Amino acid sequence: MSPRTIAKARPPRGSQPNLDDWARARSEFRWESARSLLDGLPRGRGLNIAHEAVDRHALAGRGAHVAIRWLPKRGSPVDLSYDELRRRTNRFANALAALGAVDGDRVFALLGRIPELYVTALGALKHRTVFCPMFSAFGPEPVRQRLELGEARVLVTTAALYEKKVAALREALPRLEHVIVVGDPAPPGTLSFRELTDRASAVYVIEPTSAEAPALLHFTSGTTGTPKGALHVHQAVLMHHLTGKLALDLRAEDVFWCTADPGWVTGTSYGIIAPLTNGATLLVDEAEFDAERWYRTLQDHKVTVWYTAPTAIRMLMKAGSELPKQFDLSRVRFAASVGEPLNPEAVLWGADTLGLPFHDNWWQTETGGIMIANYASMDIRPGSMGRPLPGIEAAIVRRTGEGVEVIDAPEQQGELALRAGWPSMFRAYLNAPERYAKCFAGGWYLSGDLAKRDADGYFWFVGRADDVIKTAGHLVGPFEVESVLVEHPAVAEAGVIGKPDPVAGELIKAFVALRPGYVWSDELCSQILAHARRRLGPTVSPKEIALTDDLPKTRSGKIMRRLLKARELGLPEGDLSTLEGSER
Ligand code: ATP
Ligand code: MG
Repeated sequence: MSPRTIAKARPPRGSQPNLDDWARARSEFRWESARSLLDGLPRGRGLNIAHEAVDRHALAGRGAHVAIRWLPKRGSPVDLSYDELRRRTNRFANALAALGAVDGDRVFALLGRIPELYVTALGALKHRTVFCPMFSAFGPEPVRQRLELGEARVLVTTAALYEKKVAALREALPRLEHVIVVGDPAPPGTLSFRELTDRASAVYVIEPTSAEAPALLHFTSGTTGTPKGALHVHQAVLMHHLTGKLALDLRAEDVFWCTADPGWVTGTSYGIIAPLTNGATLLVDEAEFDAERWYRTLQDHKVTVWYTAPTAIRMLMKAGSELPKQFDLSRVRFAASVGEPLNPEAVLWGADTLGLPFHDNWWQTETGGIMIANYASMDIRPGSMGRPLPGIEAAIVRRTGEGVEVIDAPEQQGELALRAGWPSMFRAYLNAPERYAKCFAGGWYLSGDLAKRDADGYFWFVGRADDVIKTAGHLVGPFEVESVLVEHPAVAEAGVIGKPDPVAGELIKAFVALRPGYVWSDELCSQILAHARRRLGPTVSPKEIALTDDLPKTRSGKIMRRLLKARELGLPEGDLSTLEGSER
């Protein structure tokens, strides 16, 4: 991995980054004082995510500010002010009350990125029900699994999605009492979103909400196996808010675009909550990825802070470097990435194309919010995830029989662990208490990811514990090898696995997708192998490379190495419910 550092982000004009001195911020940080960044419910009635995201701005006189700018697939943008969002979420909360929904009931959404999705999420939180989003592209089986496991009482969807994916499941889901449908007419057995909310009052007083009351249910991406349901509580909002401010450098005057779908955790923590608690304008694009549309969106809507993912960045890179030159991208002052390791090549591409690098950060469904980040004030080390957030203690540990041993020496590979107890830590895996308990030892939460820390406290991702390759006595993280492969001009994307070998234990095998304009040949294959060998040395470089059109990915854009491996070895493919492109 590259040890070089590159210049930090473009400083916001006329001001300092929100986190301008990482070491001082960490040493002075106290959770009790951080809590004062939030308002809490009026008259000390507790803490509710939706109040922090919506009502408090309306109450503070910022009700006219645009909360959500929605870009429909076709047609003109639609703006929703904080006042309007407040009214709509109040109506939805009242509609839930009228249906008899009570605290803790699960309200699921199966919706594309349309305003009703945001109203559902925030209205459900106001009414203290638990919100659970699903990707609208899920097929009927993943939808059924989640509704059943999550004991859904209410589902909000569209008429088309209902007919296609839910109608036939109703009998199998006796707990699912109400299906609310966006778009008229509502099919038999469903209720109309419009009618319910038109009928409901626009005034709603949030009942006292405990900081520990359940709020969000998120299923993991299913990269390593069957997705797990992680439960979060209302005080997670402190983490969403704080990380929005410190790791994404958000301010109230920002136009913020998170490209993640609310079907997974990033799209909720940062695609809904964090920008709103920080009083910014959240841009929501209904359409799917399209390089030209994305550049145009950044330009036309004057996006200032942009949060995206490595797969999307690699797709932009694949679309070539001429396209971005046609657009004015100079308003973007901070760009960040999450979800997968960000290859150094992609960080540098950002620096060339946007004039500022992508800031990688690391977290998981289980952590509820960003834990480790490259901050606006910090020099970036391309390939590193950055440093832990103030209030977060991260360490490299080794599991022992009884507990864990912390590895203090730098550059040692081990499991990435976090001192348990931060506000957005998951409180349960649904119906799996033993699995939950196994994630903790000696006061640490064990992430299942392998990493290293350098002498300056930067963390470097090595790989998921399940993906690490053992070859000729070495432990090799696929990320390191993939990053070198994508340095080659012909390689757009790479996925690396270990293939059983009688001599080496495992051999490194790579799957690569080519950039447009390149044609696969033995010669090109040898060139790529030679490049990898030069950069990585003979032991760690791949022995085999295969061409693939597209690497299998989860809907949240993560390379499914377990599937590459299962296919290579002819083994069962396992849970494919989150595989991109399946069951549309
Ligand atoms: P499952 O747990 O079902 O296998 P998943 O772990 O992919 O799925 P998520 O919680 O969505 O589900 O993803 C978190 C994981 O994504 C992390 O544990 C890590 O492996 C990877 N990840 C996220 N951000 C980064 C990053 N910046 N660098 C490297 N890996 C990252
Ligand atoms: Mg995981």
